[in-house]
Amino acid sequence: MLYRRDDEPVDDDAGGRVRRDELTAGQEPFAIILGCSDSRVPAELVFDQGLGDLFVIRVAGNVVAPSQIGSVEFAAALFETRLVVVLGHSQCGAIKATIDELQRPTASQSRNIRSIVDRVRPAVEGLLKTELRHDLKELAQHAVRANIRASVDHLRHGSEILERLVEEEGLMVVGAEYSLETGVVEFLESPA
Ligand SMILES: [Zn+2]
Repeated sequence: MLYRRDDEPVDDDAGGRVRRDELTAGQEPFAIILGCSDSRVPAELVFDQGLGDLFVIRVAGNVVAPSQIGSVEFAAALFETRLVVVLGHSQCGAIKATIDELQRPTASQSRNIRSIVDRVRPAVEGLLKTELRHDLKELAQHAVRANIRASVDHLRHGSEILERLVEEEGLMVVGAEYSLETGVVEFLESPA
């Protein structure tokens, strides 16, 4: 038996046995989410979705590396899912780590963590050349959004398969930011 956090039994039709049985025949997730691994931003809870609804890829900083592109290609091709949401969030640790690293470079950082920071870096570097560098909080807020937009752009243009799906099959790749403070998801405007 599954329990929600308030220890009420989960309704069978919502996320329990009936739905689980249905899904053994296959899945048709209506959205692919590329989100951050942050424990405070679980995609299904943020969007109030259940089993089989979302195909979720989570990685610190919602960065795009080949395995993330491959996962999106896989879901878009196999399940014909036509919506991809890059879900970043306020107070993202990967963004903070990247800002710290750019301001005070360290040699000791692990190669693996560096591979994440290096993917966030381009979104932050440009902002550090503006007046935003004097206001860390503001800088971090802008960096979160710039990083979401960079991931959206990378997914749209970093894969021939996805590019074709966008042009010919109506695949949408959009960015969104979750606020830890309010619990609200704000969808970012797409570049024209
Ligand atoms: Zn994060």
